Amino acid sequence: MQIVPTVAATQHAVRAARAAGRTVGVVPTMGALHAGHESLIRAARAECGFAVVTLFVNPTQFGPAEDLSKYPRTFEADADLCRRHNVDLLFAPTVEEMYPPLPGAASASSLTRVEVERLSEPLCGAFRPGHFRGVAGVVAKLFNITLPDVAYFGQKDAQQCAVIRRMVADLNFPVTIRVMPTVREPDGLAMSSRNKYLGPQERQNALCLYRALSRAREMFRQGQRRADDVLAEMNRIVSGTPGTKIDYIAAVHPQTLEPVTSLAEGTLLALAVRVGPARLIDNLVLE
Ligand code: AMP
Repeated sequence: MQIVPTVAATQHAVRAARAAGRTVGVVPTMGALHAGHESLIRAARAECGFAVVTLFVNPTQFGPAEDLSKYPRTFEADADLCRRHNVDLLFAPTVEEMYPPLPGAASASSLTRVEVERLSEPLCGAFRPGHFRGVAGVVAKLFNITLPDVAYFGQKDAQQCAVIRRMVADLNFPVTIRVMPTVREPDGLAMSSRNKYLGPQERQNALCLYRALSRAREMFRQGQRRADDVLAEMNRIVSGTPGTKIDYIAAVHPQTLEPVTSLAEGTLLALAVRVGPARLIDNLVLE
């Protein structure tokens, strides 16, 4: 596996793989890799001739009061995991490589914005202003750097998937987006690099997200179609759990992210809850 810190060397390696007839798959990550990331890497490895993982904790998607400096960084373990999965290239740039400073300026910057309107505003967008602009911007850059045929994302970040899909459609990126199911701990907690912030009691309390989603799914299966009733029950479960603070619990259309009043197959139930120091998200598509 090549570990490559520069844009130019990555583009060069990917072009060579393409010239040799290999399809290119990319898995964008912020590192602290876990079984959720692994399932994306496994899919890329199985489906593509040249598997690329990117590892970059992107500062532009963190708000000023967010956890950028505390975000877990486990480079050696991440590189080992990628090696075990026979990843061909790990792109691990510095902030300066991704956002070169303007001449004369001290700090890294980008003057170009990629703004996916409407889809960036509700749900997490309302609580993390500018977050999806940062995500769309860095993913656009990563696509131009790794030149993928296929890019792999996780359903856990459902709004991110909707934003990226729309960006790819709007800007005609020649990339197929594959969304892989959410990987969970045995007790149902969605795997997340941010689970590392949870103490033992918080880890228990964090199960309320999955409990709320499971109860919602059960109500839907029993014929309940009123979004308000299901959301009220989810609210009851989460707010009855100590040490939690709800950012939102919503039932929305999976592509437009607009709220629905009546539940149907395909409706996205999504929630974000602060549990101690961690802001956790989870979701479920009704079927
Ligand atoms: P991150 O490193 O948190 O930016 O995540 C990188 C990619 O892994 C994103 O596409 C996430 O949606 C995906 N991912 C994170 N956690 C999970 C999970 N539990 N199951 C599936 N995919 C995940």
